[in-house]
Amino acid sequence: MKARTLAESFRFAFEGVRQALRTERNLRIHTAAAAAVLALAAWLRVPAPGVALLVLAIGLVMTAELFNTALEAAVDLSSPAYHPLAAVAKNVAAAAVLTAAAVSVAVGYIVFRDYLPPATAAAVGAGLALTPRALPGGHRTRRVTDVTNDGTEQKIDIDVEQLLEEARAVRERAYVPYSRFKVGAALLTKSGRVFAGCNFENASLGATICAERAAAGAAISAGQREWVALAVVADYPEPVPPCGICRQVLAEFAPDMPVVMANLAGERRTMTVRELLPGVFSLPGGGDG
Ligand SMILES: [Zn+2]
Repeated sequence: MKARTLAESFRFAFEGVRQALRTERNLRIHTAAAAAVLALAAWLRVPAPGVALLVLAIGLVMTAELFNTALEAAVDLSSPAYHPLAAVAKNVAAAAVLTAAAVSVAVGYIVFRDYLPPATAAAVGAGLALTPRALPGGHRTRRVTDVTNDGTEQKIDIDVEQLLEEARAVRERAYVPYSRFKVGAALLTKSGRVFAGCNFENASLGATICAERAAAGAAISAGQREWVALAVVADYPEPVPPCGICRQVLAEFAPDMPVVMANLAGERRTMTVRELLPGVFSLPGGGDG
């Protein structure tokens, strides 16, 4: 048999796709579902890495389906009458499609969970046996120590995991219809209380308040000005850094406070406010700085 030219190979491949689409109801359903998922992702403005994962999952299912179709045809050709081995071949090929479909449902959940109402996301996550907010690490007892307050060296244990958990939880309440960028912050004060804050946007975009300042406002309103540690969590490529305005606000009260920055992937980084904001602006009369 003569080797196919490149052009012929492409022609045969496209013919195969056309044939599969015409004869296979499943593939038509998959194609429609894929289009719907991608349209939804575009409408929700899902970031590029999420869309790439969706495309990969869709490709996985389509490829499995095409192989399944090809295998069914080959089995029918070689074994027109019933044969147990033919049944095994077809069933296993169908199982491959099912596996690909299950994987793509899990990928879809992970990509879209932040856009679902929290209760729905948790229910779907439980159904998929995925922990909605699972962060790798597992060192729940790690603590930051040696925090300086009022010029005296103090040893205060900080349960970083607990603080991050509070920040992750409050992040779900963020009001972010414009940016879809949810941030949660949890501020631990010297008295041991934790003040949580989420970001909230406004149609007048400049009126937007960051999570860090929302948490700071809650603490100040409760008379808690001595801050020990801050955790900030967002869905960000790296541990999310506070913006410049928030750094300035934090520096007014706690320039030596450690800020634990984290993302949903579990990456984290700790810096003091002073490290985040060298050359801080201050006026005489302020508390510190
Ligand atoms: Zn900010």
